Amino acid sequence: MKAQWSIRARLTAWYSLVLLAGLTLFGAGIWLVISHSLRASLDETLAEDAKGVTTVLQSETEPDHLREELTEYASATPGGNLMEVRNSQGQQIVASKTVSMEQSDSASAYGVQVRPSGQYRTFTTNVSVNAGQYRVLVATPMDPTEATLSRVRMLLLWSTPVVLLLASLGGYWISRRALAPVDEITRSARVIGIQSLSQRLAVPASGDEIQRLSETWNGMLARLEAAVKRLSQFTADASHELRTPIALIRTTAELTLRRERSPETYREALRQVLLESERTTRLVEDLLLLARADAGLPSLPLERLELIPLVRDVCRQGQILAGARQLEISAEIPDEPVFVEANDPALRRMLLLLLDNAVKYTPSGGRIILSVDRGPAGATVAVSDTGIGIPETALPHVFERFYRVDESRNRDAGGTGLGLSIAKWIAERHHASLEAESVVGQGSVFRIRFPLT
Ligand code: ADP
Repeated sequence: MKAQWSIRARLTAWYSLVLLAGLTLFGAGIWLVISHSLRASLDETLAEDAKGVTTVLQSETEPDHLREELTEYASATPGGNLMEVRNSQGQQIVASKTVSMEQSDSASAYGVQVRPSGQYRTFTTNVSVNAGQYRVLVATPMDPTEATLSRVRMLLLWSTPVVLLLASLGGYWISRRALAPVDEITRSARVIGIQSLSQRLAVPASGDEIQRLSETWNGMLARLEAAVKRLSQFTADASHELRTPIALIRTTAELTLRRERSPETYREALRQVLLESERTTRLVEDLLLLARADAGLPSLPLERLELIPLVRDVCRQGQILAGARQLEISAEIPDEPVFVEANDPALRRMLLLLLDNAVKYTPSGGRIILSVDRGPAGATVAVSDTGIGIPETALPHVFERFYRVDESRNRDAGGTGLGLSIAKWIAERHHASLEAESVVGQGSVFRIRFPLT
């Protein structure tokens, strides 16, 4: 199984790794620069020393005085005991007790000589003056330089792990601090359940990712809370709606059975029971449809459909719905065909729901018009009536489930309060919009606007 590393540990590990690489590069760079420059300065000193000896050699033309001059020069110069001068025959003119000239073919050469008293950097060169050819060796102790370099090396080697350790601890602490609010969010979110959806996470005013995360969480909680509220409201409303017809059926049956009745009374009671059962069946079917709609079912396959024949059909059905009531139901339809992307049975159902409402809420003598309009933005179907209308305050709520403008009157008319919610859902499935306009006492218009096909 893959080891589960916390973000904190991963951050610290990466940070330490990068830091280690950086420190190593930095240390190596420092070491190279310092060692190179210290050694170069030794060589420069030697070149200077050689130049000094050359000056003495040039200034003295008398070979007899040369030894004297050079010895004097050596004793007067710091580090003068570290030089050797030979003439062209190889005879020592000045010698050093510490370093000695080695056989070398090259004209000028740097070297290192290890002696019991320490390490020495040497420089051997040929000097030509008027009096002849000389070979000169100058040397300088390397020990102070090497000691400095070894101190630098120790400092770098020891400071790297210490700095790395301190920085890693600091990094771990910082990432712990930075991620602490995430732990806090996790802790708070863990205790939020379906019963406590109104709880919210504390939002730090930090303007960073944590603030955005808490706000996003809170937004999601608010949406969940609203959805759960809608669901429980729906369940409560549904049970309330179902209770009424069931209670009516039960009371009718109980009252009728209390004593012997005439066949006419029994018939009337059964008619009542049938009416309420029909209402209950309708309600249950509507509820089922909406529950399926909430669950994302059923899918509505859309196809290219000619609107006009469908609207004519619905208009005829509306006339049957109106029955004996004196309502004039007509269709206003353009001459040319109008096509929409729709699902035939669902579209019929939506139009019938709107027509049924128009019939229910339009008094006798009124007019209902089903019209089709092929506008530039897409087709529109409107159901308008000259009915009682909907008050302005109620208009925004008519598409809500179980919402009724006037409960008692609506129930008498046989409505379940779900018709417009179903119509709205069907419209949405058609990517269409369903809007209502109404003036109390004058009538209402319900418009379905289809998108352009
Ligand atoms: P129902 O199935 O009970 O009619 P709806 O969801 O279809 O319920 O309608 C919701 C509310 O809108 C009802 O209370 C009804 O009073 C009102 N309403 C719907 N259509 C019309 C209309 N054409 N004229 C007047 N009121 C309407």
